[in-house]
Amino acid sequence: MDDEIRKEIRKVALQNAFEHEGKTQDKIVLSKILGTKPEYRTRVKEIIGDISEIVSSINEISLDAQKKEIVENYPNLLKPKEKIEEREGLPPLDEAIQGKVITRFPPEPNGYPHIGHAKAAIINAEYAKMYNGKCILRIDDTNPEAERMEYHAAIKVGLDWLGVEFDVIKNTSDDMELFYEKGIELINSGKAYVCTCKRETISKNRKERKACKCSLGDIKKNNQGWEKMFEKFKPGEAIVRFRGDMKSDNAVMRDPVLFRIIEEKHYTLGEKYRVWPSYDFAVAIEDSSDGITHAFRSKEFELRKDLINAILDTLGMRKPYQGFFSRLEFKGMPISKRILRPLIEEGKVSWYDDPRLPTLEALRRRGIKAEAIKKFILSLGLTKANTLAPFDALESFNRKFVDSDSIRLFMVQKPKKLRIHNLSFSFVEVPNHPIKDMGKRKIEIDENIFISENDAQDIKEGSQIRLLGLGNVAITKINEELEGDFVENGKTFNIQKIQWVSQKNSHEIKLLIPNQLFIEDKFNENSLEELEVYTEPHYLKLKEGEEIQFVRFGYCRKDSQNQAIFTHK
Ligand SMILES: [Zn+2]
Repeated sequence: MDDEIRKEIRKVALQNAFEHEGKTQDKIVLSKILGTKPEYRTRVKEIIGDISEIVSSINEISLDAQKKEIVENYPNLLKPKEKIEEREGLPPLDEAIQGKVITRFPPEPNGYPHIGHAKAAIINAEYAKMYNGKCILRIDDTNPEAERMEYHAAIKVGLDWLGVEFDVIKNTSDDMELFYEKGIELINSGKAYVCTCKRETISKNRKERKACKCSLGDIKKNNQGWEKMFEKFKPGEAIVRFRGDMKSDNAVMRDPVLFRIIEEKHYTLGEKYRVWPSYDFAVAIEDSSDGITHAFRSKEFELRKDLINAILDTLGMRKPYQGFFSRLEFKGMPISKRILRPLIEEGKVSWYDDPRLPTLEALRRRGIKAEAIKKFILSLGLTKANTLAPFDALESFNRKFVDSDSIRLFMVQKPKKLRIHNLSFSFVEVPNHPIKDMGKRKIEIDENIFISENDAQDIKEGSQIRLLGLGNVAITKINEELEGDFVENGKTFNIQKIQWVSQKNSHEIKLLIPNQLFIEDKFNENSLEELEVYTEPHYLKLKEGEEIQFVRFGYCRKDSQNQAIFTHK
């Protein structure tokens, strides 16, 4: 036995022991050695004694001693593993302390939750989990004009489905009195003022980087203006503005709005308040007062970072770390409400759960699993490059989850009749899954079956075909209908294998196939195909929402007794 192979055995055994709490086994080391040194496959007897001796010597030493030996002799063994872990999860945080990290997800209840919300929720919740901290769900409900209970409920349902867990659930509007208190503090320190300019004047001044006359008003006048906002002023007649920097290159800093008057009824608070904080002000105060240590938002909010910090600095409040990630959107599947709402209003898309949409309801209905979304999002990490992900990228994650749970069923498109002569049995039993034990199903048959037109086109008179799970048929006649003789113990190699359904008990369903919704910014008129197909009666026994693989077609999800939706290949 040469030294080189003994060294290799020791290295493999050390690595395996170190990865398994200090213990390894002969057979594991042997299989790893044979994997990397195939020349030993015929010489197992020569090395098995050495393996056994080395394994027991390594199992005797402590985990620390094993690590020390690895660090000294094989430092590379430790490195690649760390790299892989980094790629699979989120990068570690700066200034994060185990047990002290608090993150948050603050969705506004102004629309149905979509894949972009999923990304923000999952990243924030995952960081809290990584550091044994907390994640807060804060429903950001301070713009009554746009917000509704319907959306609030949909967000809750979507997050439940995703399986994202929160330690605290609250509404931004729970803290209205705190916003007022901080607003008054800013006014009284001269850092905020009431502006009664017209909307056009304000935006013109912003563009020209000019301050308006209101900003010269004294504290007393601003206090009076603030009081008037609660009763006398009408919406649009007065706002509170932060004294930022009208000359700043960052337009967000040019004396932004802190409060405005909104008279629409709030969906839970009714008419209790009419002066509402702006998004930026609410986020700044809430993140600080909720104890948020790390706040992650998508990149389009990056310019607001300076403003949030400026508000908190002015008030002498603690600032959280603000991190950013790229917005997640699939190619040809826009998430913008401005684009989706008209499609629904015009009837081009049925509702927010239409399987062509990137909303969480639609993805669920299409057969995408929450676990797949989570893995997919974490695989993207924190990259800031704003690229459109192809939907296939999510599909490949989803396939791993659905494959093991999908029952295999036969489905026929554009049925062609096939009559089988000499059939000597009246039912077959077919396994529900090729590998996993999901049981079998019994299909009643007689001489009349359907096969797909597509398959029928390839069949030649005189040839044999194999009907999956049933047996071989020698085709004797091809006309409008096909005819053939059943062949006992027919060959299984080199033969066309096709699926079929029994005519007497086939069940007709509609199969929806979602395609890309937009092609080059134009609505795709063919984005939803509808096929009338025939499947087995067993379909009726499946629960709504079950995932199916139609053999030789693809994964689909049962939507109802009469409709299934194509998930992906
Ligand atoms: Zn003004």
